[in-house]
Amino acid sequence: MNHKKKRKGVTNYAPRCPYCGSTTVYRSATGIYQENDDDVMLYVCKNYPACDAYIRTQKGTAIPIGQMANGKLRALRTDAHRLFNQLYLKGFMPKQTAYGWLSSVLGVPQDKAHIAQLSEMQCELVIRETKKQLTFYETHMKSKKRRNDHHDTDVRANANC
Ligand SMILES: [Zn+2]
Repeated sequence: MNHKKKRKGVTNYAPRCPYCGSTTVYRSATGIYQENDDDVMLYVCKNYPACDAYIRTQKGTAIPIGQMANGKLRALRTDAHRLFNQLYLKGFMPKQTAYGWLSSVLGVPQDKAHIAQLSEMQCELVIRETKKQLTFYETHMKSKKRRNDHHDTDVRANANC
């Protein structure tokens, strides 16, 4: 007799949905992602789309990368990432330094400091702390720029003499 009860779409790694408690289905991201050129595989809450929680898997494996996330958490991560990227995209610090700062804010080693894996609370922390940094650097750069502008005016005034 065959006692194997492995159902289609069920793997040993399948997480439970932390939002509604339902089981998850291992399936392609096609139809969930706007584009799925990389053939990403997901664990999707069985109640999808009523419950829009899912997690992607490591490429070529059925191992989930991090915890299940719903739409609200994904939006928070997107916000946190967009803000955080400003730190180096605007030239306030090198990318490496920004990630070092991120790991100290989160209190985790740098190889664990991935915004894609943050919880809601961690996202809110990163958003709050990043805003402080951006405000600091933007104020600092502005006052520096104002001094330079002033200098330019002086030079122009002298040239007109
Ligand atoms: Zn769910």
